[in-house]
Amino acid sequence: NTGSIPDIDDLYKGIIERDRAKLARAITLIESNASRHFESAQMLLEKLQSIKADSIRIGISGVPGAGKSTFIEALGTYLCSKGHRVAVLAVDPSSSLSGGSILGDKTRMEALAKNPRAFIRPSPTSGTLGGVHRKTRESITLCEAAGFDVILVETVGVGQSEAMVREMVDFFLLLVLTGAGDELQGMKKGIMELADAIIVNKADGSNLPYAQKTKNEYNGILHFIQPATAGWETKAYTCSSLTLDGIEEFWQVIGKFREVCGNSGVLQQRRKDQLKDWMSSLITEQLTNLFYQSHVVQKFLPEAQKEVMAGNKPAVKAVQELFDHFRDAMKE
Ligand code: GDP
Repeated sequence: NTGSIPDIDDLYKGIIERDRAKLARAITLIESNASRHFESAQMLLEKLQSIKADSIRIGISGVPGAGKSTFIEALGTYLCSKGHRVAVLAVDPSSSLSGGSILGDKTRMEALAKNPRAFIRPSPTSGTLGGVHRKTRESITLCEAAGFDVILVETVGVGQSEAMVREMVDFFLLLVLTGAGDELQGMKKGIMELADAIIVNKADGSNLPYAQKTKNEYNGILHFIQPATAGWETKAYTCSSLTLDGIEEFWQVIGKFREVCGNSGVLQQRRKDQLKDWMSSLITEQLTNLFYQSHVVQKFLPEAQKEVMAGNKPAVKAVQELFDHFRDAMKE
């Protein structure tokens, strides 16, 4: 029952005891937009704050059809068999528009969903990108407190959500397809700049030689791109989620990344920087809301906009005046 306020102690205990049903309920609580849920969700998160988890957070991106869910199923199943506990979260900001989550489709990752060592959660269907950002970050915290040591955050290949996921993970993987000569040229350099690895997927059967060729092409381009992580060389690899060739190799790349970037301190610093940036964006968001919700701004903004659009007043002057009103109102 999402209408009532759940017992925080009960959820806390459930999470500590690695109860997946309780974890799911706790995520539902943090995803709720009701203000009374917000308060108890924050209480729960604060209680869980002291639990220090040793986890790796991996973002996985690629265009629809690139093979993200098949890859995650293969990787996740492999990791569970090696004793890991794997949580899969999805970020799909379009899901609130389409009315349902594409990434959270129940028929995907069927085997992994049944695995007792795995936990799969569809994208929160919140209206704003900021809302999805907060909910996903808090879900990561809950999953780690519940003992999941590998967090996979899947996102669709659209710019904004990729940049957002990059800001909450340690390692960012881009899945691409072969025959991508044109795609390679068309692909925004910005997305490749986010990646710590690029995997040319579906490297199997008659596609294998093409996949290897595409891999070499990507490696050629990556040479000229600033790596996403200091001290780490972003490289291209091939993989098949059907034959499982490349799955184990990818996990070795992650191990190497943790070793290199953990030893240099880059990984620890990244997490700290991410928290600081996250705090800044929360402050910006609150300030923006405070401004637009202020009664003086609501009163004077439409007229100021009209004046600026009509060319009667410079935009900077109009904004200055709005802030004068706003400051005066804050003093009252
Ligand atoms: P997503 O939209 O990125 O999640 O892509 P899917 O995982 O749903 O995969 C899209 C299609 O590609 C499906 O029909 C898969 O069966 C197929 N596919 C995914 N991975 C592989 C692979 O490694 N090899 C081959 N041959 N097909 C694959």
